Amino acid sequence: MKTYPDSLGRILVVEDEPRLAAVLRDYLHAAGYASDWVADGDGVMDAFRTQRPDLVLLDLMLPGRDGVDLCRAIRSESEVPVIMVTARVEEIDRLLGLEVGADDYICKPFSPKEVIARVGVVLRRYRHTPPERMGDGLSIDEAGNRALLQGQALDLTAVEFRLLRTLFKSPGRVWSREQLLDHIYEDHRVVTDRTVDSHIRNLRRKLRDAGLPDESVRSIYGVGYSYEPPLAAGATE
Ligand code: CA
Repeated sequence: MKTYPDSLGRILVVEDEPRLAAVLRDYLHAAGYASDWVADGDGVMDAFRTQRPDLVLLDLMLPGRDGVDLCRAIRSESEVPVIMVTARVEEIDRLLGLEVGADDYICKPFSPKEVIARVGVVLRRYRHTPPERMGDGLSIDEAGNRALLQGQALDLTAVEFRLLRTLFKSPGRVWSREQLLDHIYEDHRVVTDRTVDSHIRNLRRKLRDAGLPDESVRSIYGVGYSYEPPLAAGATE
């Protein structure tokens, strides 16, 4: 794999217009970033997984998978910032909303300088989020109803998945067993607290087998459970 020891970050440029992509990359390199380029929507996820960019500049209109679809796919496995590049101003609210999940947008036509400035802002913002949100490689694929660890699907039951999703969405939040029951059984059937405990036990075992630390799902005595993402290396509690 290529490394860019001196770069400020690695940017994946997704743009089907080669000249525009070349201009963007020239400006990125001049500003100290490394870049990779994909011109076709169908090649983006492979590139994303192998290049592991620090940020994605994602054109909305592409041959193959379009930018909206790709942004959702990236979001389902990563929190890497995505800046949407679009000529459709009326779509911006939707792009930034939960449904698509872009971090920012740039309207076409743009000045390359504006793009560079925006990349810097979004990267700084992302890097200042607490490290514990970024360490563990766990992600939730809402559309696919599955949880992924480093991109690999975990083999969870539907209830375990809903349990993990609920805990994972609010790291550090402590949930009572009753609150968790509300989230894991859609039909509100009557089950006991012990049911939660046994699902938690199975979930923990599967997470441990997949390589997550034991304390990822923490018991708070007399209260309930919380999800505690591992701290980044070197950090202490
Ligand atoms: Ca385009």
